[in-house]
Formats: sequence, C-alpha cells, structure tokens
Amino acid sequence: MRLALFDQDRIGLVDGDQLVDVTELLAGPGPYGPAGPLHRHIELGGALPADLSGLPRTPLADARLEAPLPRPGKIVGAPVNYLDHKAEMAYPTSIAELGVFLKANSSVIGPGRDVLLPYRDLRTDQEGELAVVIGRTAHHVPAADALSHVFGYTCLLDITVRSTEDRSTRKSYDTFTPLGPWITTADEVPDPDALDLRCAVAGEQRQHTSTADLIFGVAELIAYTSSVMTLHPGDVIATGTPAGVGPIRHGDRITVDIERIGRLEVGVDGGRATPYAERPGRRVRTAD
Ligand code: MN
Repeated sequence: MRLALFDQDRIGLVDGDQLVDVTELLAGPGPYGPAGPLHRHIELGGALPADLSGLPRTPLADARLEAPLPRPGKIVGAPVNYLDHKAEMAYPTSIAELGVFLKANSSVIGPGRDVLLPYRDLRTDQEGELAVVIGRTAHHVPAADALSHVFGYTCLLDITVRSTEDRSTRKSYDTFTPLGPWITTADEVPDPDALDLRCAVAGEQRQHTSTADLIFGVAELIAYTSSVMTLHPGDVIATGTPAGVGPIRHGDRITVDIERIGRLEVGVDGGRATPYAERPGRRVRTAD
C-alpha cells in the first residue's frame, strides 16, 4: 500500500488515481501534533486496513501532498555508501569507517515545495536516495532480522552544502530533506537491495543506480545503525547516494524516481541566499 499525507493532517491510501481517506481508521482521532497522523499510525503498530468501502475519496491530482512524515523522530544518514560516489568525491573511506550521521528532523519538506539555497557563493548539491521508514523498535538487531523492522520505503533528497562544516551542519538547513511522495509499505518491496533509482535536475538525469550497489545494503545498514542507537517507529534512514551529485540552482526542478515507490519532485529557490562570509558566528575569539 502507498500511504500519503495530504491536506496537512489526513492520511490518504493511494488507490489508482484516488486517495482514500483512512485517517481515523489508521491513527484514531486528532489532533496529531507536528509528527503527523502517519507517524502515530506507525507507532500504533502500522496495521493496514482490510476494507476501504464507504470511506471518503478525493482525486489524487487535486490533493496537496505533504511529506508523509513531516517531523521524523530522527533522520539517520549514510555517508559514502556507494563505491561510485566514493570515487567521484575522492573520499579515502566509506561508511564502513565513517559510520552514520544525523540530519535535523526540522529539515523535512514535502513534494512540490522548494529547497531554499542558504548561500549565493557556495555549492549546494542534490543527493537522491532511498529512504527506509522504521516500523518496529530496533536495538542490536541482526541483519537477518533487520527487514522485519521496516514499515516502508520512500524517496529522499539529502541536500548538502559543500563546505568545511560537519556533515550534520551541511545537511541540516531547513528544507534540506525533501521526503515523499508517500510511503510504500514493506510488503510491496520484497527486496530493497534491487531497486532502480534515478535522479534528475532541470530535466537532465544525473544519477542512475540500482540499490544493489549499496556498500551497506538496507538490512546491514539497519543492523549497524541499531548497534549504535535505538531506532524507533517513524525514524527515517537515508541509505546514501550514488555518483552524479552536482550543484542545484535557483529555478531548478529536482526529481527522484525509485522503482516500486514513485517520484518525488521539488523546486529550488535561491532568492534568499546570502554570501557565506556574512553568516553568523564567523568571528573567532582570540587569546588577546
Ligand atoms: Mn547522502
């Protein structure tokens, strides 16, 4: 099943070209808070509805989709998790040595929104990625059991400023984690390590891979991450990006297409970008 968030606080089950409103059925009565009703549904166990008869429907084309999880508990990132990206960036190490990093959960935006470029004079790149949505608490789970902790999968852009700061800074600006357009439940993705992934900017394909080329595959990534931090229902893991990252500019459209999941599309707005040298905190206190 494909579960979307629309009209702020409604859960829509995608049925052909329609959304079936399953909000109360899946999440109980609101209000749902900033994490949204899909997050509550996943926390409640994520059972899927058997009968959709009599529920209100709305045309998918008319709905304004939100990020399915507007504020995940945490967003875990996988640095250098494809060999071809390791080569293009001339990184000496991969995820095996780097471990994982965290992105701020306030960086999420939904489909159709704009990524806001923070700086006029620093390169900001797109990274198209498969995202895993955790369904069951995972703590030291073995890889063989890891996929049973997955609620579903979605598309993610890990937007990144190329500068000297720590990854958690460079990837945590507001709007830097487009997510969506919906969550495809795990039962529809029997093998997450065999998905075709494409990412295009301004109509040109920049990235094309199979998730078969992940260094840490999905199960291994969950096992490793859960050996560091407990993963909770509704947490998101960005699995890493293949070769083809590159600068995004004002007016660009970015798309991520993943087999069995769908297409996420966002815009890019550089209208509020400022010079990097004018950022706060640039003055360093000296001894005298
Ligand atoms: Mn990334």
